Amino acid sequence: MIPDSNGAAAHEAARRRTFAVISHPDAGKSTLTEALALHAHAITRAGAVHGKAGRRRLASDWMEMEKARGISVTSAVLQFAHRGCVLNLLDTPGHADFSEDTYRVLAAVDCAVMLIDAAKGLEEQTRKLFDVCRHRGIPVITFVNKWDRPGREALELLDEIEREFRLRPTPVTWPVGRAGCLRGLVDVRAPERMLRYTRTPGGVHEAAEEAIPAGRMAAAEGTDWERAVEELELLRAAGATHDHEAFMAGRTTPVFFGAAVSNIGVRLLLDAVVDLAPPPGPRELAGGGTRPLDAPFAGLVFKVQANMNRWHRDRIAFIRVCSGVFERGMAVTRAATGRPFATKYAHSVFGQDRSTVDIAYPGDVVGLVNAGALRVGDTLYADQAAVFPPMPTFAPEHFAVARPVDLSRSKQFRRGIAQLDEEGAVQVLVSDLRGDHAPVLAAVGLMQFEVVAARMAGEFAAPVRLETLPYRLARATDAAGAEVLGRSRIRGEALTRVRDKARLALFRDRWQANSFQREFPDARLDHLIAAHD
Ligand code: GDP
Repeated sequence: MIPDSNGAAAHEAARRRTFAVISHPDAGKSTLTEALALHAHAITRAGAVHGKAGRRRLASDWMEMEKARGISVTSAVLQFAHRGCVLNLLDTPGHADFSEDTYRVLAAVDCAVMLIDAAKGLEEQTRKLFDVCRHRGIPVITFVNKWDRPGREALELLDEIEREFRLRPTPVTWPVGRAGCLRGLVDVRAPERMLRYTRTPGGVHEAAEEAIPAGRMAAAEGTDWERAVEELELLRAAGATHDHEAFMAGRTTPVFFGAAVSNIGVRLLLDAVVDLAPPPGPRELAGGGTRPLDAPFAGLVFKVQANMNRWHRDRIAFIRVCSGVFERGMAVTRAATGRPFATKYAHSVFGQDRSTVDIAYPGDVVGLVNAGALRVGDTLYADQAAVFPPMPTFAPEHFAVARPVDLSRSKQFRRGIAQLDEEGAVQVLVSDLRGDHAPVLAAVGLMQFEVVAARMAGEFAAPVRLETLPYRLARATDAAGAEVLGRSRIRGEALTRVRDKARLALFRDRWQANSFQREFPDARLDHLIAAHD
């Protein structure tokens, strides 16, 4: 029987919203995640999911590295219901655990919430993650956070988004009172009233929301209200109103203001995820065409997490369901080999918690445990073959030469490096000059090197010595560009990425890359996805 003969997949997909929050560390992603869960009644008190103390406790029996650091390397997928929809919020690890996986998560979502600190505006990590969203064509909703603290002017923040991202901001809520003096929010769809919030101590519970008619606002809030009215008038005159088609095409971003820590403006954002974020749609296939939602099951492996505990060397492969109904235990095929793959150990994973998943629909994420054979970018399908396009590789920013500590283990060394490359744990670069006994490892985040070092020692019994190289920027080039770079005075280096044979030109920084380009204007130097300089 084709699992979806009754149309359940399309029906369930229509009420799914699968999204991620993209932000720079400290903008308030954990706080917002928790506030969203609170408003969706998935938790009853804030502090339960992401409390830092709680996090440390949870890290007890997972990776050795996690224990040492007290951070969570495991990605989280938080699922909760709101207004008849099922929301899947995928974590985009930041801080010290920023890695290529952070970008890969965006291959599994249909929408992103861009979280901005009102005092800081756009920051480096936000820019990189936005770059990936743009590349994937994911629509972006913006939340300006920390409006309870002094920060920048609202209009100035909108300007920055428009200028830097060529993304037109269309505010859906607007603050009354400058950052640090928040009086309330106006929902621009109902501008005849202001929403006033009474926060609870510590933001543990939802803030009470009261609608005050505009007539009373002028008297009560004076200049703050007048100013908000003027700004709203300005925005209306400029045509900065939500247009769904433009939003879906990545030309505009609806903007919300608030303070996640006090639960202000969070309900409106949560509603926006339900109302504005798109449900899963048919997914493009590698050979052209799309996989309809109600085709038999097909899923994309967007991340493989290795457990580094030497007694529990399992792998969890995270799979985004793209079509059909996933049922635990069902027979699926791995497209890369045409071989069957067991799905008996299907879980949902949030933090350290795993619970068995019996059924999942398009937009949902399933973690398959003991999935050592699966690779990032793999397609799994049932009944009717499908192959999704390969996962792109992202701009690495850290480079190190790897050498075996013990030369008599060089065979194990080569095997280990090859496997970690194939798994997508790190990018491996080679050149004739360096030879394959001293490959250059390239990573998006430094944690990837730690993972490589730990796994090489623990899993392949081939400890490595890593020697950091002074490069921080990679650009795509070609054979001619590599040749020119090789003989130029500039201390860059051209290497070939093993995975896709792409030629990369490495530089210390953008000034060095720019001066090379000025000197050799014909040499090809292209930006890679999420390269920001
Ligand atoms: P993350 O690194 O993006 O996950 O950020 P966190 O959620 O851990 O927040 C970083 C810091 O900002 C914490 O001290 C939070 O309490 C604080 N924070 C988060 N949201 C707000 C907010 O709306 N207002 C204020 N004043 N502080 C906030």
